[in-house]
Amino acid sequence: MNESGDFSDMQFVVLSGPSGSGKTTIVERLLERSKIKLIKSVSATTRKPRKNEVDGENYYFLTHDEFARRREQGEFLESAEVHGTGNWYGTLRSEIERARQQGGWALLEIDVQGAVQVMHKYPRALTIFLKASSEADYEKRLRGRGTDSEEIIERRLANARKELEQAPQYRYQVVNDDLDRAVGEIVNIISSWRQ
Ligand code: ADP
Ligand code: 5GP
Repeated sequence: MNESGDFSDMQFVVLSGPSGSGKTTIVERLLERSKIKLIKSVSATTRKPRKNEVDGENYYFLTHDEFARRREQGEFLESAEVHGTGNWYGTLRSEIERARQQGGWALLEIDVQGAVQVMHKYPRALTIFLKASSEADYEKRLRGRGTDSEEIIERRLANARKELEQAPQYRYQVVNDDLDRAVGEIVNIISSWRQ
């Protein structure tokens, strides 16, 4: 942290979008293609790991008690209960510190509630809302991904409708129709971002 004890000297890129909009896929490509060095913040969550997810890489998987303890101690920049599942997600301040030490901009892939918290703390944050081209695409992609049960897919779709209403709060909205095109558009937005 800087002398004032916050991250006001840091640049944040915040990417949100409904489940199935393609955030995870786009982040992987952005890390390769961005001209500005981006350091992906690894979030903490209380949800259980999916098959192939690795602790410390995809997320820091915490128990509810551990998450609550760290939250009370002020270790999170932002945190929220996401998708009404009772699971918490949050960005640890230590991840932003890591980005600073590595000399890059912090890239946060977080939900709308978390993004609003970051916007209030850091009005200079570059916020991008990712969308699929149509409502039917979310369902198609979530089913195609094959990682979630029917009940979870239904809940994510209901949540998507609510999240889409929040899109106008973001500085940019990007449609992930063609993957390469969408990544190119975001690379350009980041490169031309001067605040
Ligand atoms: P999110 O992280 O937003 O939930 P994912 O990155 O997991 O979304 O993408 C959901 C599914 O959609 C994945 O199977 C992914 O391969 C696929 N996908 C992502 N972008 C596109 C695209 N532009 N066109 C078609 N399929 C896509
Ligand atoms: P998933 O369970 O599919 O990995 O993620 C579910 C949702 O949690 C996504 O909308 C994702 O953006 C959000 N999310 C992931 N990490 C964070 C975080 O650190 N903070 C907040 N607020 N949301 C997060």
